[in-house]
Amino acid sequence: MHEMKLLDLFPDTVSVEGGELLLGGARATDLAREFGTPVVVYDEQTLRSQARAYLEAAPGALVAYGTKAFPSIAVSQIFAEEGLGADVSTVGELEFALRAGMPGERLVIHGNNKEDELLERSIEVGALIVLDSLDELERVRAAGGARFLVRVTPGIEADTHEAIKTAHHGSKFGLPPDDAVEAIRRAPEAEGLHVHVGSQLMHFGAALMTVDWIAQFAARLRADFDWTPRIVDLGGGLGARHVLEEPSFTVDEFVRGMVGELQRAFHLQGLPPAQLILEPGRSLVSRAGVTLYTVGNVKRASAATTYVTVDGGMSDNPRPAMYNARYTAVLANRADAEPTEAYTVAGMHCESGDVLIERVELPTPQRGDVLAVPVTGAYTLAMSSTYNAVPRPAAVLVSDGKARVIRRRETVDDLLALEQPVGGA
Ligand SMILES: *Cc1c(COP(=O)(O)O)cnc(C)c1O
Repeated sequence: MHEMKLLDLFPDTVSVEGGELLLGGARATDLAREFGTPVVVYDEQTLRSQARAYLEAAPGALVAYGTKAFPSIAVSQIFAEEGLGADVSTVGELEFALRAGMPGERLVIHGNNKEDELLERSIEVGALIVLDSLDELERVRAAGGARFLVRVTPGIEADTHEAIKTAHHGSKFGLPPDDAVEAIRRAPEAEGLHVHVGSQLMHFGAALMTVDWIAQFAARLRADFDWTPRIVDLGGGLGARHVLEEPSFTVDEFVRGMVGELQRAFHLQGLPPAQLILEPGRSLVSRAGVTLYTVGNVKRASAATTYVTVDGGMSDNPRPAMYNARYTAVLANRADAEPTEAYTVAGMHCESGDVLIERVELPTPQRGDVLAVPVTGAYTLAMSSTYNAVPRPAAVLVSDGKARVIRRRETVDDLLALEQPVGGA
């Protein structure tokens, strides 16, 4: 590989042998041939090691996988085995978690517009509901028997993309502080507080400020109502590094920082320690996933731009188009070859904005090469679409040189099966 550091972005088990990229002991080109492309390859060892990093950095905490990052029964089964719970926000995500064998008491229920069925099912299985409005408090209390937290919006601006900030003033999520106080006044049986700063956080600042804020808020509630949170849920948000130019934090650094700050801040306010819940999504699954594409047309568009076109794009990974997310790539079948020039990796969709990578240095790509894009395990398949009637890719799990399909590839027949033609033939 031209720059061995690039391998740092890949799953724990990555290696290069005889010019071939290996994931979980399997050759990427073999995986591409066997399962077709695009395909998202998940490394089991990395999934497990990320889960363990959370449990080790926050002993005794409930670590609830943010299912929306990649709803997958197999992935949630692995996390359940490791002792994790799940954070879900729809009836669909709840079903994924339950079918993976997640115990109800390890489930945390979110959503800023929870449907009745979600509340009913959540109460039935003994999950912890995170209230998102005063109106919801009344619905939950009317149903009876619910365990719940109050989600509060501290008014802190996270340094992340606008679309994934959640704790600022005017956020559509959570209760503004005065409403959260009112919720606790009405419902002192609430078990605790929840806060989620935002996603793809690449700095500690906002997260630590939030922890201090929540301790002060808890002190105010104790003073007002003699109420103290038994549970504090700090949400998710640890960012992933997608290109070498982005900063990198380990789970250990981030979580120990948060846990230490929470203990200090609660101690300072004279509050008893609370049970901690964390809800990581992206940081559990993003680096475990690598998307493999097959190179098609290679086309010089101008003196400055040569397109390498792949057999997927914004349908399997909308993040570049939605958030200007950056990625890098390697040619899996010539992983140790020197790059010749910088290329633009374009998808196959009918949009000029369907560009996966603005600029990446590669050895001259040719039709049929396999392009591997690392750090694509989170919010890719989860946000995929069938735009241009392109069926969604498969996901496979690799471990010890063996690969198993964990989500089968969608087919054009799957898409056609939903259609209801009118009249005629
Ligand atoms: C999205 C979300 C998470 C997971 O966020 P990541 O950035 O993927 O870690 C956790 N909690 C809540 C409430 C969320 O909305």
